[in-house]
Order: sequence, then C-alpha cells, then structure tokens
Amino acid sequence: MQEKGTISIHTENIFPIIKKFLYSDHEIFLRELVSNAVDATQKIQRLSSIGEYSGDLGELKVEVSVNKKAKTISIKDYGIGMTAEEIKKYINQIAFSGATEFVEKYKEKADKSQIIGMFGLGFYSAFMVSKKVEINTLSYQEGAEAARWECDGSTEFEIGPAKKKERGTEVILHIDQDNEEFLEDYRITQILEKYCKFLPVPIIFGEKEETIADDKESDKDSKDKKEKKVKVPNVINNTQPLWAKTPTDLKDEDYLNFYKELYPFSEEPLFWIHLNVDYPFNLTGVLYFPKIKNDFEVQKNKIQLYSRQVFITDEVKDIVPEFLQLLHGVIDSPDIPLNVSRSFLQADSNVKKINSHITKKVADKLQELFKKDRKSFESKWESLNVFVKYGIISEEKFYEKAKDFALLENVDGKFFTFDEYKEHVKTNQTDKNDSVVHLYSSDPEAQDSYIQNAKKRGFDILKLDGPLDNHFINTIEMKLEKTAWKRVDADILDKLVEKDEKKESVLSKDDEDKVKKLFEEVISDKAHTVAVEPLSTDDLPVTITQNEFMRRMNDMQKMGGGPMMMMGSMPLSLNIAVNGNHQLISGILKEKDEKKQKELAQQAYELALLSQNMLKGAKLTEFIKRSVDLINK
Ligand code: ADP
Repeated sequence: MQEKGTISIHTENIFPIIKKFLYSDHEIFLRELVSNAVDATQKIQRLSSIGEYSGDLGELKVEVSVNKKAKTISIKDYGIGMTAEEIKKYINQIAFSGATEFVEKYKEKADKSQIIGMFGLGFYSAFMVSKKVEINTLSYQEGAEAARWECDGSTEFEIGPAKKKERGTEVILHIDQDNEEFLEDYRITQILEKYCKFLPVPIIFGEKEETIADDKESDKDSKDKKEKKVKVPNVINNTQPLWAKTPTDLKDEDYLNFYKELYPFSEEPLFWIHLNVDYPFNLTGVLYFPKIKNDFEVQKNKIQLYSRQVFITDEVKDIVPEFLQLLHGVIDSPDIPLNVSRSFLQADSNVKKINSHITKKVADKLQELFKKDRKSFESKWESLNVFVKYGIISEEKFYEKAKDFALLENVDGKFFTFDEYKEHVKTNQTDKNDSVVHLYSSDPEAQDSYIQNAKKRGFDILKLDGPLDNHFINTIEMKLEKTAWKRVDADILDKLVEKDEKKESVLSKDDEDKVKKLFEEVISDKAHTVAVEPLSTDDLPVTITQNEFMRRMNDMQKMGGGPMMMMGSMPLSLNIAVNGNHQLISGILKEKDEKKQKELAQQAYELALLSQNMLKGAKLTEFIKRSVDLINK
C-alpha cells in the first residue's frame, strides 16, 4: 500500500537551507551516502560473525553508478537494508532531525567552509544536489518486505512496497539542474578518491580494462602466451590501508609505498611513527617526517584526518599540535568529535589527550633515533631541526624531552647537544657574570670577518641561520641557565665575552675625545653611536657591531611574532668601535690637513661598513673613487 506522509517539522523547511547554505561543499553528499552504505555493509558482516544472520553474505561491495540520460546517481550496497518501519524511523525522523539540528546550529556561522569539511550532514545532504531522492531497500531480516521511499525535497514523502530482491539499499538521486557536474564520471571519481580512498569495503565505480592471459587462445605447450583485454569493475579504494594494520606485520618498504600512495610527488620521508592507541581514546595513524630544506617551505595541510577510514579533512589545526603540522601522514580516530564547533574542539579533553600523546610519541621517536644512531641523526638534522626547534619554541612538554637530543651545529659542521656545547666552550667563553656566552652566526658567509676574528681568540661559533632561529635563541636563552647568546657581530671581541680585565689605551683621554669627535662628524647617520676602545693592535681600526637585543627584536619583527611593544620597525642603529690602539688611528690623529684627516676617517669607517656588506649605492661609488685617489697618491 502506498502511503503518504509529512515529515514532522519543528523548524522552517530545511531543504532550501541545505541547498544554499552548503553551496561550496556540495560534493560531500557522496561521502555521506557512501559512508552510510559502508556502515550498513559492516553491520551485516558483524551480524553474520556473531551468528545473528545466517544467510549468505555474498560479495560485499558498494556500487556507485551514474545514468547520464536519466540524470541520476545511484549508491547501492548489500548491507543490512531497512524495513519500511525503519525508514520511517531512521530517515524520516532521526536523519531528518539530525540534519535540522545541523542546519539550525550552523546557518549563522560565518566560517562555513571550515565547518562543512569537518561535519557530516548525513543522509539529507543528498538534497544538496537532488530534486528528488529515492530509496529502494530490502532488510536482511527474515520475511522482510522490500520498501521504496521517495521525497522531492519538500517535507512530503511517499513510502510503499518495492520489488527489490537483493538484500541491501539503493539510494537514487535525481540530480537537479544546478548540479549536473556530478553526472560527469571524472567528477565522481575525483570525489570518491578524495573521501573514499581507504574505506574498508570495496567501492566500485565503472569498469576498467585489464590484460589477462587468454587460456583458450594460448597454446598450452608454447611459450607464446596470448593475452586478452577484459573489463573488470573499477575499485576505487584500498580497503586495508597501512595504518589499520599491525605495525609488527609491516616492513619499511610498506611504509614507503604507502607514503608514495599518499603523496606521489614528494621525496622519500626520513622516517615515520606508527600510532596505535586504544586507551583512553582510539587513534591509529602513521606520521611521516618529510625532508625539509632549510628555506622552511611550510607545507601544512599534509596530514589527513580520517574517522573510521572516511576522509574528513586535511585541516588538522586543532587536533595536532602546531609544530607537528609539518609532518605528513594520516590520523584516524572515531573519538575526535566532528559534530561540534571549533571552540569546543579546542577545549575537548580527548583532543587535548590526543595532542599530548602525539607530541610524546614524536619526542620518543626522535630520542630513540638519537640514541640508536647519532651519526644518522646528525645527518638528518637539516630537516629535523625545524620540527625540533618549532617544538621547543611552542611546547614546554616537548622541550623537556628535546633538550637532550636537540643539536647545535657550529660553523665547522660539528654537532653538539646543549650540554655538550656548554662544556665545549665554557673555558674560553665564560664572562665576568659567569654566563657562558654562546656565539652564533646567522649568515656565515656575510659575517665571515667576524667569525675569523672570533676564532683567532679561540671562540667557537654556532651556525644558526634558519628562519626559526631567532625565536629559538630567544626561547633557549631563557631556558638554559647561565647562558648568553650573541651574534658574532653583536659587539667588539672584548665585549662579546666580557672579562673584568681592562686594556690599556695608547691614546690620552684628550686624544680619544678628538678621535670620537672626528668620527662623529664623518658619520652622517646620527642613529649610530661612536666609541673609542682600546682594542688589540691586530684588531681592525674600525669595527661595526649591532646590539644583540635590538637586532633580535628587529629581526623577529620582520618575521612576525615579535613582542607587541616593538610594532613598527626601528631605525637601524649601529655601534661603531674605533680602535684607539690601532696604528692607523694614531696616523689619522697626526694628520695636520683637516680635510685629509676627515677623508681618512671616512675611508676607515666605510671600509668597516664594506666588510659588513652595508656599503651600498652612491656611498659605495664614492668609496671606490676615493680609494683609487688614495692609492694614486
Ligand atoms: P548517521 O549515518 O549519522 O546515523 P544519516 O542521516 O546518514 O545519519 O542516516 C540515518 C540512519 O539511516 C542511519 O543511522 C541508518 O540507520 C539509516 N541508513 C542510512 N543509509 C542507510 C543504508 N544505506 N542502509 C541501511 N541503513 C541506512
């Protein structure tokens, strides 16, 4: 008997909202319907395995097909099916009210695109693309009658008997005019590959050609086997993705192959972690450490989030700690709540636990690699340092573990742990305050003259030239007690590692003042400060340095994320140290011709600028001309 009814309504008609509201993400209808079909299939498997269903399971699969002429898409499963009563209950009431609630909740939200990827609308998402939806279904229950349901997108539905003979459900979508793109095979393939690539039941769409041996045509005794092409069902998915398998059954090769499957265009990863937790939450997954070049190409959105093998999103912002979003791979957890708002997600205790679990796993893995094979760990440091430093900067818990395996590399390519390095330099580089000064270069090429000078003193210089290093230094300076971190050009050598001893000056106080005045006149930029220092005679006549603190603040500003009070870049202020003990300075002082004296001072100053790569444009042209003149004389 054909029955008509009205879906009980406690809100305005939701279908127009579903259609309009989810405009950008219409494609998820297919994910929802295929997941339902998979669920129904798994249910019959379970019933069969516990003896609640004794019928023949048959070939379990989900078939998606498109009829271009009729403008329909069909999703067909061989699962548990539904009786008419169940349709009324699950589709008319439960599914409908689920969809209603969803729409009510999110129609006001601005960041729709973010929500939609994350949340399922369920069965009613079919109406995003359809003017009419049919369900044809036969329940697994003994003596069940097939049922047919139809709804045109209003709250009216029809339900009645059907002729269906096979167990399971077929959902037929009559695609509306605006959504005919979904009748194209390539589009369906694309969507299935995005969301259904790893579903646990074979998903079939269309056919493909395969070459097989042709037994009939082949001469049994001859080597010349004939082959023929046959059409076989095109299976979209890998029903047993790597992360769902037991780690002990897997070889390195399996992990590498799976990586290739996920990221066909990426270089091989460095190593990976197989996550497998069932208490206090459920989580499986494989995270890969990719090779990263030092230019910090931030490749986020590389981790894919699944829930029971259904792709949910590749925006894992709230689930994975930020510094680990540089990893690649897959996380699968039915315990990540997908049907709540983002702010709730951030506060959710499961999410927090997952977060710290992953952090711990990653730290443990790094620790293990470090201990097992330090040389290999060092060789991977170029890629690893970004994670480790990022982790140290952003996660206290991670720092606690990382402080034992994080490495510092010096300009000569030697690696040290934090403790080792302190030991290495403390004799030479402990200052009068008992701080061990860690000298570093942010650009060994450009700062070569400073590096060479510092080396002459027996100082060691670290190479910290990465984009994160400014922040890293700031963090680590606070964490490691009794250390000071200074870029190698932050001060004159005597002051980089300041000792109590005083150097004798060959100049009288009067002469020092004269030299200072002379240089101040010559140096046009008033943001710079001049000091006459009694340096060693083989130090340069003029040294330019940049105050560590100011420079660091400025650098961080440029990168973003500097302290708020420093908004707006400050003028570059240099410290100009004139070496009072240098012969050249005494020479300039003795010069009687005032014009010539200034010229010499200018030359000495600009020579120092040049060594810092700071002499540019017209100033450089002038300098060259003056140099030629001076040599000529
Ligand atoms: P959810 O899947 O989140 O429960 P849906 O709106 O997608 O919500 O579906 C509502 C209910 O309809 C399902 O829980 C299930 O009982 C039933 N259902 C949907 N599709 C099928 C199907 N292909 N086979 C059997 N039952 C189904």
